[in-house]
Amino acid sequence: MPRGSKQVMPDDIRYDWQPEEIRAVHDMPLLELVFRAASLHRRYHDSAEVQVCKLVSIKTGACPEDCAYCSQSSRYDTGIEPQALMDKETVVDIARRAKENGVSRVCLGAAWREARDNAQFDCVLEMIKEVTAMDVEVCCTLGMLTEGQAKRLEEAGLFAYNHNLDTSEEHYKTIITTRTYQDRLNTLQNVRKTSVTVCCGGILGLGETVEDRISLLHTLATMLPHPESVPVNILSKVSGTPLEGAPTVPFDETLRMIATARILMPRSVVRLSAGRVGLSTSEQALCFLAGANSIFSSETGSMLTSAVPSPDYDADREMLNRLGLKMRPPFKDQLTPRHVSFRSTARQEQERLLRRNDRHPPGPA
Ligand code: SAM
Ligand code: SF4
Repeated sequence: MPRGSKQVMPDDIRYDWQPEEIRAVHDMPLLELVFRAASLHRRYHDSAEVQVCKLVSIKTGACPEDCAYCSQSSRYDTGIEPQALMDKETVVDIARRAKENGVSRVCLGAAWREARDNAQFDCVLEMIKEVTAMDVEVCCTLGMLTEGQAKRLEEAGLFAYNHNLDTSEEHYKTIITTRTYQDRLNTLQNVRKTSVTVCCGGILGLGETVEDRISLLHTLATMLPHPESVPVNILSKVSGTPLEGAPTVPFDETLRMIATARILMPRSVVRLSAGRVGLSTSEQALCFLAGANSIFSSETGSMLTSAVPSPDYDADREMLNRLGLKMRPPFKDQLTPRHVSFRSTARQEQERLLRRNDRHPPGPA
């Protein structure tokens, strides 16, 4: 660059991605794709940091839904013993041990089709209050929510709500028949009416095509604002489910998905989630280089149920040390329910982009 000339940064945060642009990013030569994703990652994140999360299955199994990948669906004989809602003290104990091990986000997951306005929901609200008071980000994944329930979760101090779209709208119907893609989007919209942040991503290995992956990324990257958190799961094949014999996802496809998500949604936390146990340290290192900056870890070696295994705290601490990575503290971006600046900044940026695009229509990325 000539001396004195200013480097003009392209506008990285966009909500107007077209499927063919996403495909072009996704299909780039792999190392070029990783390099671009890594460069963008460094612009928006501390690349030495990884957020360690702990998923607690607060209510396990006997779910009426028919998600073809899930160990908790009552439709399949997966050998998972159903368990009633955990008591609050047990959850708080797990969260305390997680925090001692460097975890800064605890995700409370329930095998429910939807949340109901009942004593169990009230109990979850109490869990959120207690764990948040420990200075840990709390995420919940409880199935579908009404606007009123989202509001009550917000009032309890919930930091994030997870509700994955899992795959493309087209492929979704072949994976789940007991609810629609639009049902999922409606819940996400209900969460967006509050200051609770959104965690939404998908699963690789459900028999989807590359077009399905592009379509899922398109849905996520055109949300305004982008989900603050984007989990990339790799199918954990569960015996007894319709997907028990699904082909294994080649690692380069996972890496492409992570790098593409990082480029499309530069500010989001990209979570290398289920299926990480099948990746070597070197493969995980490449995922961190390409922009993944969160993992789920565990004290029991299982991420959700015993059918979805996970590395444990000790193994992850050793891996992060070897790679020279540190654990991200909670509330790093001050995105507490009381701090909604992420969203208002995104809106201001979008308005600025729309004004600019009126003057200069966008070309290919
Ligand atoms: N019942 C809630 C729901 O469906 O939203 C929460 C259930 S579960 C904790 C949430 C997510 O875990 C699912 O949306 C799916 O993306 C992921 N998941 C569950 N089983 C999985 C598996 N066997 N392999 C990969 N991801 C899985
Ligand atoms: Fe039930 Fe959630 Fe599993 Fe689907 S993913 S079967 S809704 S627990």
